[in-house]
Amino acid sequence: MSHPVSSPEVSSSALNDLNEAERQRIQAKSALFAPPTPITDDGRRELVGLSREELADVLTEIGEKPFRAKQLWHWIYHQGVTDFAKMSTIAKPLQAKLAEHFIVGRPSLTTQQTSKDDTRKFLFRFRDGQEAETVYIPDRREDRGAVCISSQVGCTLSCSFCHTGTQKLVRNLGAAEIVGQFMAARDSYGEWPSPKGETPRLLSTIVLMGMGEPLYNYDNVAKAMKIIMDGEGIALSRRRITLSTSGVVPMMDRCGDELGINLAISLHAVRNDLRDQLVPLNRKYPIEELIAACHRYPAASNSRRITFEYIMIRGVNDSDEEARELVRLIRGLPAKVNLIPFNPWPGSDFRPSTRERLARFAQIIMDAGYSAPIRMPRGKDILAACGQLKTQSERIRKHAHSTQQSDVSDGE
Ligand code: SF4
Repeated sequence: MSHPVSSPEVSSSALNDLNEAERQRIQAKSALFAPPTPITDDGRRELVGLSREELADVLTEIGEKPFRAKQLWHWIYHQGVTDFAKMSTIAKPLQAKLAEHFIVGRPSLTTQQTSKDDTRKFLFRFRDGQEAETVYIPDRREDRGAVCISSQVGCTLSCSFCHTGTQKLVRNLGAAEIVGQFMAARDSYGEWPSPKGETPRLLSTIVLMGMGEPLYNYDNVAKAMKIIMDGEGIALSRRRITLSTSGVVPMMDRCGDELGINLAISLHAVRNDLRDQLVPLNRKYPIEELIAACHRYPAASNSRRITFEYIMIRGVNDSDEEARELVRLIRGLPAKVNLIPFNPWPGSDFRPSTRERLARFAQIIMDAGYSAPIRMPRGKDILAACGQLKTQSERIRKHAHSTQQSDVSDGE
């Protein structure tokens, strides 16, 4: 095998060393795309996105006792309050002092669209004017649903089937911006205070599947997920959070050890030559290494299976032979396969697999004992592919801008 990391002769400590060096390289690169500091123009500090310890520190800096952090945490993440004046357990003078130094913000809403199937897409704008998409996908049978969150503005990876991949990476999102997407989506449904224990939640799961590769922004994503999982705030269980990666192998190990959230793999091809084209990251971390990392993933079990996402592209990756190879690859893993018909977007030559192909492909996987639901794209009427809301909004703005300019020149 040409890739030494997947060779059985490589000891696990050598593998750890290799991965550690890679992790450091990835994180150094990630730092080049760091988000701006969360300070407003008038010098106030954003509190959303701080860890508990950091929250206690900034309170100490203004001469307050660290125990206030617990109180604030409750108001920010359990009650969802953004106005210090509404934090009724805090005395009025302190409310005023907090408002002088801090804010509890949300990303601002640029666009919101609700589909006929009730999928709701949000385009959020952050303090520096950058934008990212968030989508709420309700469950059709029950009062609950998944919030699909973005981790970066744009993406470095250029997967050839993905519309977001055509937008180059602008920057990573900060922890405040990642948590903020979920909180703002919750505002939209009025789901505060955070439901406790087994009380049903509308926004019941998180999928890190929006714009960007979350494992290329690991520190911010991890910090945001720890805040969301904290039992005294939003308190979403790690079982209800799924991180989807194109296969950043060295960071998968770390994610499993530190966060223990569910894993989804954007697989989309079962041969390296094809996956090299569809998911170019495969040239760095080929299929064998990816599958080996799935076997090591600590949070995977029969009750928490690894999801393999497979976009079905007509005549490209949808043959019987490929379905059988897929089964061979995932054998021995607690796994399920999501089959997603390609969702066309302007500029792409790919077409979705036919219904018959989809059904046949799914059957081969199910015959091998794996679940293989066919996921029909949701929210089709509002905007087809992930990444389009942002593109459309840019187009509208550019159009408005050129119209304004021509208005000006008309007047001159
Ligand atoms: S599929 Fe994910 S990783 Fe690939 S280009 Fe699109 S957003 Fe980036």
